[in-house]
Amino acid sequence: MKKKLIAGNWKMNGSLAANEALIKNLLAGLGTPACQVALCVPSVYLAQCQSLVNGTAIDLGAQDVSQQPEGAFTGEVSSAMLQEFGVRYVLVGHSERRQYHFETDAGVAVKAQRALACGITPIVCVGETLAEREAGRTEEVVKRQLAAVIHANGHCISEIVVAYEPVWAIGTGKTASTEQAQQVHAVLRAQLKAASPQADRIHLLYGGSMNAANAAQLLAQPDIDGGLVGGASLKAPDFLSIIASAN
Ligand code: PEP
Repeated sequence: MKKKLIAGNWKMNGSLAANEALIKNLLAGLGTPACQVALCVPSVYLAQCQSLVNGTAIDLGAQDVSQQPEGAFTGEVSSAMLQEFGVRYVLVGHSERRQYHFETDAGVAVKAQRALACGITPIVCVGETLAEREAGRTEEVVKRQLAAVIHANGHCISEIVVAYEPVWAIGTGKTASTEQAQQVHAVLRAQLKAASPQADRIHLLYGGSMNAANAAQLLAQPDIDGGLVGGASLKAPDFLSIIASAN
């Protein structure tokens, strides 16, 4: 059975001093975790965080990657640049990127391709808005978002991670019920199985207000292989407690 994966998404939070304190506190309490652990940090802190997690049980992640390989794209960070800093995971298609930066399914699929080409695992985020859920469109939306990535990446699809993050649950304190989350995960698993004989290797993470109190129940679901954790990843005791729930 594959180990679960708990990935923190710091979003646009942190400072040199806060990052150092957080990572040191995490390492002090981590021991030898039974699950995989990653931190997706702001790009400007990759060098600092790389040196803090180097040789530890924490893998380094980034929060976005350019669709372009290099060139005149001011403000963008390429997958080759991330690779130079030992980045193992990169979020693509986070709902905040889709919402505030108008990222499309096709663009997210290209980002996943760029990451894979540099040996970085894309964590492909999918999820429906509240309006889409209320209109009964959840399955259609998440399947459409994932289909674009499957279509662009062919047999490499077994190398991705997928995070189901209902948009209405991100940063709101509203968590999907275990039944709601498992139901969507089962849909995504079936879609991945139809696309790849190696789909069982793919981690399917749940994200959306996962915290120390609800993690164990969510992580006990058959198709939930880990969590993508925003707010609670910024507090060492909370994040450590979620990691312990996945052990
Ligand atoms: C996220 O940013 O991916 C996320 C799930 O945030 P939160 O845990 O704060 O809802």
